[in-house]
Amino acid sequence: MVRVRSSLAQLPAYVPGCKMPGAVALASNESPYGLLPGVTARLAELAGGVSRYPDLSATALVQALAEHHDVETERIAVGAGSSEVCAQLLHSVVGPGDEVVFGWRSFEAYPILTAVAGGTAVQVPLRAHGLDLDAMAEMVSDRTRLVFVCNPNNPTSTAVGEQALRDFADRVPEDVLIVVDEAYREYADPELVPDALTLLGDRPNVVVLRTFSKAYGLAGLRVGYCVGSPGIAAHVRKTQIPFSVSALAQEAAMVALGEHAEVVRRAALTVAERQRVTGRLRALGFEVPDSQANFVWLPLAGDSGDFALHCLGGDVVVRPFVGEGVRVTIGLRAENDALLALAASWRG
Ligand code: PMP
Repeated sequence: MVRVRSSLAQLPAYVPGCKMPGAVALASNESPYGLLPGVTARLAELAGGVSRYPDLSATALVQALAEHHDVETERIAVGAGSSEVCAQLLHSVVGPGDEVVFGWRSFEAYPILTAVAGGTAVQVPLRAHGLDLDAMAEMVSDRTRLVFVCNPNNPTSTAVGEQALRDFADRVPEDVLIVVDEAYREYADPELVPDALTLLGDRPNVVVLRTFSKAYGLAGLRVGYCVGSPGIAAHVRKTQIPFSVSALAQEAAMVALGEHAEVVRRAALTVAERQRVTGRLRALGFEVPDSQANFVWLPLAGDSGDFALHCLGGDVVVRPFVGEGVRVTIGLRAENDALLALAASWRG
């Protein structure tokens, strides 16, 4: 019998949002608008070329990202989704026994990837459905090597502001890596939620994580990246599984980046729908924290499973976190209307 790592025996598997053909899919924070116009055409053109390996360094994509963010190419590293970049960052700085601090509840992959990297997760309870950066700073110890700041936070949707983020970064020692995960950046109000790249980008221990899976509509192709110091980016490249970002993914991401104006337009539609859904749910008596993402959080505690089942009965798939709450992705207007009708009829 092969001996496996005993430290992983209790590791929970990542549970993705449930997929139900034909149902309204509001469980996985995907864009409801489908592919950006140019992406479909470019993918068809490229399909014949996939018998060859992709560009290992994703040179053209990295160049396009560097121009987009106005930073040097050396500061960028890509991966197969920002989940893989999370793993690459962990593998770059965390060894056995090292601690990784993050708010909880937050992105489900943090504890899993931390354990896989051999680290110890230090989960800091949220306060009022948001990250408690003071409490997180207090939990940073000599053993801490990395801190995840998910902003806005998945699944609770709230975001921390500029002063809080800057104060936090000031308190974390310079030898600890701060990963600001901005998977939902495009849906956040720039007046309220700082762009960590602008705010903290010049600090060598800060890395900003972005993805093409949400607003750019490429969840199925798997492309994410980070922007950090050249030294950290070099380590992230070293820890990547060779060729993990496919040729199609690289090309699609470049085309999508070129259609940034359309991304901004679609994100604005989602934000408008988010405001409408939030208002209606509140009018129905639901508590809904202020969301800065493409989903809303219903802290239904013990009723979460029941609400999700009620929605499923009406062919709408949402994401329950049993005993805590339900995350509902903002979809197209008609999809959101289906959700709102179910919310109104719940226990009605
Ligand atoms: N970070 C956060 C906060 C997320 O919610 C997600 C997706 N659920 C990711 C990272 C990973 O996204 P991907 O791997 O598709 O880029």
